Amino acid sequence: MHEFFNFDLIQVRGNHTGFKKTTCPVCSENRKKKKDPCLAVWFDTGFAKCYNCGVLSFKEESKFKSEKKHYTVLDNKWKNYTNLSDKLVKFIWSERMISQNTLNQFGITEEMQYQPAQQKEMNNIVFNYFEGENLVNKKYRSPKKDFTQVKGGKPILYNCALRIAVVVIRVRLTPNAIVTANISRVETNI
Ligand SMILES: [Zn+2]
Repeated sequence: MHEFFNFDLIQVRGNHTGFKKTTCPVCSENRKKKKDPCLAVWFDTGFAKCYNCGVLSFKEESKFKSEKKHYTVLDNKWKNYTNLSDKLVKFIWSERMISQNTLNQFGITEEMQYQPAQQKEMNNIVFNYFEGENLVNKKYRSPKKDFTQVKGGKPILYNCALRIAVVVIRVRLTPNAIVTANISRVETNI
């Protein structure tokens, strides 16, 4: 039969994590080799075993619970995590409720570009159309919702994989006749 000892008696330098070897609180005092690390301790599972005298120790479950980590709430002041200007990020959020995370995921950029409808150069939200790794089209949306695009750009759907998924969901929910209309609506919903 194994004897048991209190897990709290284990003395280890440094962090009480992972696997450590140390002296045994039961037998080491009475051994010739007092400093022999005969006790193996698995801190993550809360188990220890002495390879000299055979004692065992289990950490009580209640003690694991009391060690639950406490996380501090991060500073939630507004910060711009995109490559876009603060002004544009705030504008897009206030107008369309599009988050910075989405802007980053969709690779939205901003650029000065001539908008024919306004007959002047202005700052635009830019949708970059990629086919694989290649940029094949760019569409510019002005703050006044005018659209223009680069000359000779390839007409492909924006962020294809995602859009196809959205369209498929919509097709399932709507009659066939509206599919084309839905694709264009997905396009303008960004
Ligand atoms: Zn021992």
